[in-house]
Amino acid sequence: MELIDSYGRKINYLRLSVTDRCNMRCSYCMPVEGITKLHRKDILGYDELYRIAREAVTLGIEKIRVTGGEPLVRKGISAFLARLAGIPGLKQLVLTTNGLRLVEMTEELRTAGVQRLNISLDSLQPEIFSRITRGGDLSRVMAGIAAAEHSGFPIKINMVVMRGINDAEIIDFASLALNKPYTIRFIEYMPVIKDNNWASLTVPGNEILERISEKFSFSPVENRELAGPAREYRIEGGVGTIGVITPISGHFCQGCNRIRVTSTGIARGCLFSNAETDLKPYVRTYDTRGLHQALHQLVTSKPDMHQLSARQADHSPFPMARIGG
Ligand code: SAM
Repeated sequence: MELIDSYGRKINYLRLSVTDRCNMRCSYCMPVEGITKLHRKDILGYDELYRIAREAVTLGIEKIRVTGGEPLVRKGISAFLARLAGIPGLKQLVLTTNGLRLVEMTEELRTAGVQRLNISLDSLQPEIFSRITRGGDLSRVMAGIAAAEHSGFPIKINMVVMRGINDAEIIDFASLALNKPYTIRFIEYMPVIKDNNWASLTVPGNEILERISEKFSFSPVENRELAGPAREYRIEGGVGTIGVITPISGHFCQGCNRIRVTSTGIARGCLFSNAETDLKPYVRTYDTRGLHQALHQLVTSKPDMHQLSARQADHSPFPMARIGG
């Protein structure tokens, strides 16, 4: 089976958020005053999330990324991941994490069948890291990355680049891909919490690449199957790769293959569209047919592109922690 949207795009990638809770408070993701926690009764149980995932795979989803909040703070996550990994037809199970719990969890994640990890890391300087994450401990994340690498996980690091905050570290991050087989992704800052000066924080992907080119030569790498929206490059003589994700300066909507489901069962076809479909009524009543119809409807109504540019941000503000990035 295949899920094809109204613009002929094959939709085969589900980002599944399992919690809105997080053990960090990143300034670019959560508003200053924090966010109201969702009610426990609204959060789907693992059985319910599993059924959504399984039916989505039946319809044509081939890759699932588990995200959050911080997915590793939800109790029982490894057993849930193992169930997901067993869904017939699923080709890739991957996870996005802030890395804080990796030291104690990498082995169980590998055993569960997680194939790759994306680790968010926005600074290599302890004070800057702590400022961005409002108190996060860089040494724990670095130890987590080392543990994950040691246990055999391919490592992808996502850095949200913010002008005047961490952009002076672009070269330091690119250098990580020289000696380590890491994939380093530079992500343009997006206005998810809609602060007024958001546009001045965004460093366009081309500028990021230009700055790297002042220090290193690099050439494009062919994208793998089910690869994300990053343009990827290999630094001459390096073992890893670097890439830029440019949702603002050069949106990649024409190649968009994803849908998102939150921990409360709200499905979105586009991060920056306010259109949502509530899957909870179908999953709570075991209405598989209704669930299939709702997922088809979601795919059919995916917009051709988001309307976000460096000048405008028409969406309602939302904490990324709820939707899962
Ligand atoms: N807690 C996990 C983590 O830290 O990776 C998963 C959830 S987090 C919301 C998922 C991704 O969203 C992270 O890679 C984060 O960098 C990205 N993200 C959040 N807010 C963003 C923003 N304003 N602009 C760009 N990326 C953002």
